[in-house]
This record gives sequence, C-alpha cells and structure tokens, in this order.
Amino acid sequence: MFSIPGKALREKLLALNGLGPETVDSILLYAGGIPYFVIDAYTRRIFSRHQWLDAKASYDTLQHDFMSQLPLHVQTYNEYHALIVKTAKVYCKKTADCSDCPLRIYPSTL
Ligand code: SF4
Repeated sequence: MFSIPGKALREKLLALNGLGPETVDSILLYAGGIPYFVIDAYTRRIFSRHQWLDAKASYDTLQHDFMSQLPLHVQTYNEYHALIVKTAKVYCKKTADCSDCPLRIYPSTL
C-alpha cells in the first residue's frame, strides 16, 4: 500500500467508507512514515483555548496552517502530535488544569 505516492494514497484512503482525514493521516504518518500532520480534537481544544486557531476551521485549513509552519518531517509531526495528546490528557482535559501545565505561560481564554 505504501508504494503508492503519498498524495495519491491519501486520496484513495479518503474515498473509502468510514475513513476520515484524521484516521487517514494517522495511518499515513504513523504506519507509513509519510508526513501529514494529524489534526484531532485535542489539537483544536488546546490551540483554540489559546486562540492560536479558529476551532471551527475545517480540517484541511488547520492542517495547512500547521504544515505551512513546520518542516516537512515525519519525526517532527510525530513528536509534535504526541506532545499535543499528552498535554491534553494530562492538563488540558474538558475541565483544564492550567496550574502545572507547561503552556500556562501563554495567555489562554481560561
Ligand atoms: S495552560 Fe490551560 S488551556 Fe493551556 S494547554 Fe495548558 S491546560 Fe490547556
């Protein structure tokens, strides 16, 4: 499957029933080592609480915003997304605990 060029493979996977962009990009990034930044609910939550993005923006818009600001690099995308997930699970839950969060130094809406 991963012998198909990344863009063409992404389109093929997105055409399958039940696969949305978050799932497809996770497959491409984590299984295929193909650099597509994954946007998920944690990304929207953290970044919107800091007003770094529009929480209502489309998946493609947000992905473009991230990818246009980052090097096209699998390990960078992998680590960045992992840090977002970790931050959301430990600190930025539905009810945020900002007191010990490493991102508390940046202004947020909370
Ligand atoms: S400082 Fe608060 S709002 Fe910002 S990421 Fe941490 S927990 Fe979330």
